[in-house]
Amino acid sequence: MEDHGTHAFPEGMREQLAKTEDFDVIADVFHQLGDPKRVRIFWILCHCEECVLNLSELMDMSSPAVSHHLRSLRTSGLLISRREGKEVYYRAADTPQSRLLHQMIEMVMQIACPEEEQQ
Ligand SMILES: [Zn+2]
Repeated sequence: MEDHGTHAFPEGMREQLAKTEDFDVIADVFHQLGDPKRVRIFWILCHCEECVLNLSELMDMSSPAVSHHLRSLRTSGLLISRREGKEVYYRAADTPQSRLLHQMIEMVMQIACPEEEQQ
């Protein structure tokens, strides 16, 4: 017989659910990738390091618009940047999360990774 008074959820589920900030991080990552232009920028930067001007040209977008997306992606931890003189270069963060999203984008699009084709 059903007994709703003592229903046992999988062990640890309540504890994990209570850590709402963990889920906030995940929701933010998918929010970042919920914008087609940001997905494209992120995907480019999974393969090469670029500055705002080169990205603007490749994306056919204004520099301020590209900068806006770069800031957003960097704040979420998906990108890292380094300054060289007056120029700032961006690339995908070297994290398991970032590599997984790189793979996921290519699996969803069913395209080959440009890096793998080169090898
Ligand atoms: Zn790739």
